[in-house]
Amino acid sequence: MKKLTNKLFLATLICVVISLAIVGASVYILVSLEYSVYTKLAMFLAVLALDATLVYFLVQCFTKWLVKPLNEMDLEEEHLPVYAELKPFEENLKQKSKRLEQQMKKVKREHKIQDKVRREFTANVSHELKTPLTSISGYAEIMKNGLVKDEDIKKFSEIIYNETGRLITLIGDIIKLSRLDENAIEEQKQRIELYSLCESVISRLEVSAKQHNITFELIGAKTAFFGIERIIDEMVYNLCDNAIKYNKEGGKVKISVMQSSSEIVLSVSDTGIGIEKSDLERVFERFYRVNKSHSKEIGGTGLGLSIVKHGAAVHNAEVEIDSQVGVGTTFTIRFPL
Ligand code: ADP
Repeated sequence: MKKLTNKLFLATLICVVISLAIVGASVYILVSLEYSVYTKLAMFLAVLALDATLVYFLVQCFTKWLVKPLNEMDLEEEHLPVYAELKPFEENLKQKSKRLEQQMKKVKREHKIQDKVRREFTANVSHELKTPLTSISGYAEIMKNGLVKDEDIKKFSEIIYNETGRLITLIGDIIKLSRLDENAIEEQKQRIELYSLCESVISRLEVSAKQHNITFELIGAKTAFFGIERIIDEMVYNLCDNAIKYNKEGGKVKISVMQSSSEIVLSVSDTGIGIEKSDLERVFERFYRVNKSHSKEIGGTGLGLSIVKHGAAVHNAEVEIDSQVGVGTTFTIRFPL
């Protein structure tokens, strides 16, 4: 490893010495000549020009000589520097390559997880679709073969009707989720007034809330931000729908829309059954239900909160969940401004 500063010093010294020698010699010769002052001045200027040209070529040669080891440097080599001064550069390069390697590993890990999630999702979808379809097909077959008593026809038709409804809701949720997954969002972000959007969701859920004697309370102020209205609507709807489904008879749902200088905070609280701590992380997973039979009974697909989580990600928003078993649950979404 040689020092670049030494080589640079040597090159500069050679250039200066040669240049001074030429100028000195020319002055010495010109003084001894018997020409007019103007002729001597012209000759001196010519010598200076020649001197400058020579130094220019010398500098080019020296630069090539100095840079040659850099160009021949093998970045794969264990010890890079050909000059001691390049030691910090080598360290920097090593750190950057280490970081790059770590990032590559992380991306590979994420791809593996995504692949696993996708495979699990496909398996779960098939299972979730097969169950109601088997039931529909079974009841329809019994009816077709005339094996159902007249008084049971209404009951059987009702089962088929409910199972079909469940299938339609499930397929609707799968479509919503896959649109979010593929980032296949056609709509442009537009100005959304969140408070009014919550009012609209409440009015659509009024019948379902009344059936369970549940009351809504909406607080906050009109706040506007840029987002995709359809997705935000689905998110608020799913949270409010859950707040009714997992509430107690005569319970309350409180929705709040607040704005600070940096974010808009939407929270949906209920006075329902709550979620165990161990389940809090998992409720956002696809098809995860804390109580499978209860969830199916009340018409859950197990995809509502996944849609909320993905919708939040589209808006760079954070979703928080806070719950106490038997007391209630609060979902908070923070939309950055
Ligand atoms: P589902 O369609 O089953 O409601 P979600 O993805 O919306 O699916 O919710 C996943 C699970 O999280 C639900 O099955 C339920 O067990 C639980 N959950 C969601 N919201 C609430 C809530 N507000 N209170 C209690 N449990 C909830």
